[in-house]
Amino acid sequence: MLSIFVEASCNRYERDECVYCHVYEPLTSLPKSDWHITPQQAQIMADKIIKVEVLNQLAQQEINLTGGEATFNPFIVDIFKIFQTVSPNVCLHTNLDINSEISPRWQRLLAIMELKGRIDITLYPVAWEKQQKPLLRKILKIQNKLLINIVFDSLVDLKNQIQLLVEFFEEGDTLEILTLLKDYHGRVADLVEHQPGCEEAVYTNKMEDIGTFSQSGDFVFGINLLPSFKMDDRGRRALTSNPFPKSNYLLECVAARGSIDTMTVQQNGALTPCCDVGNLKCLPTFGNLLQDAPESLMAQFEVSRRKIASGIAKNRHNLENQRAGEWVEEGIPPYCT
Ligand code: SF4
Repeated sequence: MLSIFVEASCNRYERDECVYCHVYEPLTSLPKSDWHITPQQAQIMADKIIKVEVLNQLAQQEINLTGGEATFNPFIVDIFKIFQTVSPNVCLHTNLDINSEISPRWQRLLAIMELKGRIDITLYPVAWEKQQKPLLRKILKIQNKLLINIVFDSLVDLKNQIQLLVEFFEEGDTLEILTLLKDYHGRVADLVEHQPGCEEAVYTNKMEDIGTFSQSGDFVFGINLLPSFKMDDRGRRALTSNPFPKSNYLLECVAARGSIDTMTVQQNGALTPCCDVGNLKCLPTFGNLLQDAPESLMAQFEVSRRKIASGIAKNRHNLENQRAGEWVEEGIPPYCT
């Protein structure tokens, strides 16, 4: 998957807990003038994606337009059309925290669905009842696929968020999806009751064999559970997640091992070969999609891969020698191994 940040602004952190988000204004390093990517920038990116084989292959799997809140980009429909010339599989991720159907943001989503783009959402409990739920009902009348992200602060929070989805799908006739969600809810509820302060490994073990997708008729549903993290004053992710503060939350870097299954294109064009929501701050970028020529991007991939491999070897050493959390000179996050 190729994940592209198309917009840095977001309405969420003005409302509640999203002060640890990478686009939270005090933490972002982007000037306001660069908050929207433009159709011209999107075209530059699209032209290069086609020419760089690794990026093109990822794009054919899926291009995910995200941010920030992608619907705040006033050019998003044109940008969507540009990326649709690269791949048939372009989707857009939104917070769906939209007040009314006359909002330009909602109109942009309708236009994208009209173009056969898939809309995915992150669930936000404080916006669920009034903003997200009514619009999600409308989305599901138009599209037959949906991926929902749940970002959770604690196991109790996770249980409560899944319950919102259980109640939502109880309204319809998607039995298989409801069954999946009830399975999720049952497992998390069990942890909340019997092992409320468990380590991450216990949680992972509990959820290990549960599916992330389900299908009812021709409707395909996916769910993605993501622990939340605090950020430091430089916008860098903490070593441990909020729900599992006793466990270092490590990332296994597949790029260092020569394989790329995800690439994130940040607002400024910087490429990170993993699923970066902007808080990883991995220094050895795989080049810049806006600035670099296709040939130099390819060359940069190998240079950065070697640098990352060197950094993760040092990280492993640090983790084994009570030096967890120290940043190494290669500039890769201390939790990457
Ligand atoms: S070192 Fe970490 S942040 Fe950098 S590419 Fe690898 S997994 Fe991603």
